[in-house]
Amino acid sequence: MSGRRRGKLDPETLIRPLVKRLHAYVPGEQPKVKNLIKLNTNENPYPPAPGVLKAMRDAVDGRLRLYPNPTAQPLRERLAELHGCFPENIVVGNGSDELLALATRVFVEPAARNAPRRSKSVVQYFSPSYSLYPVLCSIAGVTQNVVPLAKGYSIPSPRAMKATWDHRAGLSFVTTPNAPSGAGYSTRRLEALCRAQEGVVILDEAYVDFAEENAMSLALKHPNVLVSRTFSKAYSLCFQRIGYFVGHPVLIQALDKVRDSYNVNGLAQVGAMAALDHLAYYRKNFKKIIGLRSRVSGALARLGFEVLPSQTNFLLVRPPAPNAQAWLKHLREDHILVRWFDAPGVRDYLRVTIGTEEEMKSFLRSVKRLV
Ligand SMILES: *Cc1c(COP(=O)(O)O)cnc(C)c1O
Repeated sequence: MSGRRRGKLDPETLIRPLVKRLHAYVPGEQPKVKNLIKLNTNENPYPPAPGVLKAMRDAVDGRLRLYPNPTAQPLRERLAELHGCFPENIVVGNGSDELLALATRVFVEPAARNAPRRSKSVVQYFSPSYSLYPVLCSIAGVTQNVVPLAKGYSIPSPRAMKATWDHRAGLSFVTTPNAPSGAGYSTRRLEALCRAQEGVVILDEAYVDFAEENAMSLALKHPNVLVSRTFSKAYSLCFQRIGYFVGHPVLIQALDKVRDSYNVNGLAQVGAMAALDHLAYYRKNFKKIIGLRSRVSGALARLGFEVLPSQTNFLLVRPPAPNAQAWLKHLREDHILVRWFDAPGVRDYLRVTIGTEEEMKSFLRSVKRLV
């Protein structure tokens, strides 16, 4: 016992001011009730390949008492083969979210309070894009430069960017294809952006398997470019939390120094390795999703929705009257979950994940009832 007496300790005073001010990330709802059609978090509607489930089941034995491979080395080797690079070009994370967070700690200096703005402590990203970026920036205590996308959620022209974009920012996040709009970007435009940038650029390709182009070559060509990929969406492994960055070995090494020593759990490593053995299965699913995406787009457009072109496994749509929030409620009453963002530029829209054929039929039936 401490001899010193004190009044009641207020635990609030124990929290860093930065953390008290923080608005945490709001994930899409994971419902407790069954029989809901989940079109709200861009999960893949198809299960992992049967061979993936088998490999993971087979790995559940006495080995669970052992630590996993600390660098996910066998997986890095397989990924290096896949992307035509070296294991030293790859770092694996507990979901790509973990790596995005690491990047804000590794490549930017936290801004000193009231200090003049310095590009070294600036993280920038487009709006709208992945709603996790602002949260990661707040946690890291870095300055944010938020740049609006141009018409159709396209990247503004270099001339338009001159006024708003910081070409010396320590770190820039680009969601490509874009979420929540689904807009795709050409590798040419992305390369021009990366070339003009003095700091690190992360091309967040979470949805790239549903797109026409990918920008992986830029990560292997430009020393300041990292490409972020994940097994979550395209490879049906959200549950396992596994993603990776590809880029210059010096950047990769820096991230490697800061990550937890056993950041990627063993079953996730087994699952991801097995997924790479069954790419044909996943490619078939991508095709199905892309085909259905175009049919649902057409059907919604005929019903009076504005449908944005999509290079992802979801659609951003503007429903006709009443309004997006009323639509959200109506669909929910029909046991269908979609996503609505209370954010500038997307408030009038709903984001709808492409599910199975059956799920999208139910969705369209529900839509027709309200139209
Ligand atoms: C889902 C998503 C991620 C995160 O993926 P995880 O690997 O599951 O952490 C990253 N970026 C974007 C744009 C996403 O939509």
